[in-house]
Amino acid sequence: MDSICQSLAEIVGESHVSNRPEELYVYSRDLGTAEPHLPQYVVSPRTTEEVQQVVKLANREKIPVVPLGGGLTLAGLVMPLKGGIVLDMKRMDSILEVNERARYVLVEAGVSQGKLVAYLDRHHPNLVHSEPGAPGQATVAGNVAIHGQGDLAQPYGFNSDMVNGLEVVLPTGEVCRIGSCSLGQQWFTQHPLPDLGLFLGWCGTTGIITKVSLRLFPRKRIRDMGVFVLEDGDLVPDILYRISHTEMAGDLIAWSQELPVTVSGLHNISIFISGDSEEEMELKRKLIRVGILGEYIRSGTGGLIGLSANVRPRLPRRPPVSTIQDIKKGGGFEYVGAIMPVDTYPECCRRGADISARHDIAYTLLGRVIGRSHAMMFSWSYVFNRADEDSVREAREALYESDDLALELGGIPWKPGVYGQRAVMERMDPNTLSLMKKVKELLDPNGIMNPGNWEVS
Ligand SMILES: Cc1cc2nc3c(=O)[nH]c(=O)nc-3n(C[C@H](O)[C@H](O)[C@H](O)COP(=O)(O)OP(=O)(O)OC[C@H]3O[C@@H](n4cnc5c(N)ncnc54)[C@H](O)[C@@H]3O)c2cc1C
Repeated sequence: MDSICQSLAEIVGESHVSNRPEELYVYSRDLGTAEPHLPQYVVSPRTTEEVQQVVKLANREKIPVVPLGGGLTLAGLVMPLKGGIVLDMKRMDSILEVNERARYVLVEAGVSQGKLVAYLDRHHPNLVHSEPGAPGQATVAGNVAIHGQGDLAQPYGFNSDMVNGLEVVLPTGEVCRIGSCSLGQQWFTQHPLPDLGLFLGWCGTTGIITKVSLRLFPRKRIRDMGVFVLEDGDLVPDILYRISHTEMAGDLIAWSQELPVTVSGLHNISIFISGDSEEEMELKRKLIRVGILGEYIRSGTGGLIGLSANVRPRLPRRPPVSTIQDIKKGGGFEYVGAIMPVDTYPECCRRGADISARHDIAYTLLGRVIGRSHAMMFSWSYVFNRADEDSVREAREALYESDDLALELGGIPWKPGVYGQRAVMERMDPNTLSLMKKVKELLDPNGIMNPGNWEVS
């Protein structure tokens, strides 16, 4: 052990720090196309105080610190681009409080989506959070740190909009609380205090989130889903607008994919509804099916596929985004997600299919409505064979082109990797960029936090 490793071991315990090559190897890569980068140390803290001490040490020694949750963005955001410490937050996995009446949950940063779902199912069956379609190991903090969205995005917006309060270790080691928790024990709101939105969307470059209070929502007893299928993608924005106007749907996702060939060229709108009684469900079904889709069905524009009675009770809470991919031999998959105006759906699809064709990858395109059609998260997904360099390169180029396309169409790449971040910053208003730089320098004077990301030169 070198002296830094020794000091880290004194903070978190010897079994929770490593500089062994085989462990560094694991932390040097994520599941996407980004090139691997080796860290020098991997540290797994259990408490806020331990995080604080690690950060103070790193700040003093000017060692980069990369906070890691599930490492599932696929975009290389937890890659230690400049080496240093990967701070694996997964041991901070306690669910600290559920306030049933005020509908919020307070968790430590490393609590996974899967754990939170299971906990609420068992102990608070009337409550749900907005669960992203990511694998269950993804963490609550990692998701809000990138402005993620879940299955309640259509009614309620981004998951980061659902944050009531944060505890954060600043890059210089101070612990700071944001929201009502800064005044007392209640974690129920960030309003009406001055906006300190310095930690969400910054991808761990301004501090380490150690606790998150997240809004919960009523869980409905019955769920159902229908898929409206049509050929004319130009009609999709209007249909989404009209369905969201009814305020009857939960998740609302439009998608189109090349494989299997039987669905190629079609556009599908998955409409999730939920309710507490059959009467409520029937009313919602009717308002959407008859009130909105009826005229399209009568004119032969499209058709509605419902779930069979034996599948309905087993309907997963979230759309199986990850299971509709045509995963190639070699198992690689990465997507550019971008926050886009819903009206751009047809162009996103047309141009996305062109990009896929140029790189010989079957297209998979998907737009999830956020808010009442206020925006959508549009994803261009690309599969590749990890064992084949040419296949990885094709996917990487397709991803870069998709970042550029998102910006060209007036959107913003979401959780962009380094290429996308640079493309965003090149186009950003210089005064806004300069403000970002000042904020970053103020909070992180030694530039130790996840360096290489959101780096304003
Ligand atoms: C198949 C698939 C489907 C997906 N579907 C969705 C979806 O529907 N919705 C969605 O939002 N996302 C989705 N994702 C993307 C991503 O997996 C999720 O957003 C996930 O919640 C990210 O959390 P994580 O713990 O893996 O974050 P990580 O990848 O570990 O971290 C993300 C970023 O946050 C930083 N970070 C992590 N922890 C902290 C912390 N404690 N403090 C400060 N910074 C921190 C990291 O440094 C990094 O920059 C999907 C991914 C896959 C693979």
